[in-house]
Amino acid sequence: MASIDSMNELFVDELRDIYDAEKRLTKAIPKLAKKASNDDLRSALEEHLQETEGQISRLEQAFEHLGERAKGKPCAGMKGILEEGDEHVGEDYEDDDLRDAVIIGSAQRVEHYEIAAYGTAIAHARLLQQDDIVQLLEESLEEEKAADAKLSQIAESVVNIEAADQSEESEEKTGPARSRQATSRQRSTAASSSKARVSSSRAKSARRR
Ligand code: FE
Ligand code: ZN
Ligand code: FE
Repeated sequence: MASIDSMNELFVDELRDIYDAEKRLTKAIPKLAKKASNDDLRSALEEHLQETEGQISRLEQAFEHLGERAKGKPCAGMKGILEEGDEHVGEDYEDDDLRDAVIIGSAQRVEHYEIAAYGTAIAHARLLQQDDIVQLLEESLEEEKAADAKLSQIAESVVNIEAADQSEESEEKTGPARSRQATSRQRSTAASSSKARVSSSRAKSARRR
């Protein structure tokens, strides 16, 4: 392996790593979107795929600024994160919401890894006084942060544990004689989790009356 003997070379190497990571994502994100059941989650992933394509073209502009060929260098980190995500998302889930929760978790690991990579690259671009490239990378960093925040927001609506817990509580007090175990076993199906939400809101209105 050739040695890296300047900050500039190190920086180009970092950009090649990110370039490879982003390219992998253009293949991985559609697969995740296809497996998502929640409409908001699917459209957030599809939207981020568009942004990812824009990020690739920003990186190509950065290479051009530097007079370097746009070329990826295999990013082992992203490769691993995507393999792990594939494995987790491919498990058997009784409830689509549970798979969505796993998809969100995998996507957020991706975003955090990218946020770290762009953060370092921006610091190095500043050191090299590559102001145009700082600007380009900052635009992409903001998109990664926004994608992460959006996923956090969707996560709250995908699996509503609070509603399920409330319903368990009210069933213990007033509901049919059913063991706690039976209730939690039931909670792991899609039908029962929506039932849980409904019964929870019924419980609330009952309390109000
Ligand atoms: Fe990205
Ligand atoms: Zn990497
Ligand atoms: Fe991203």
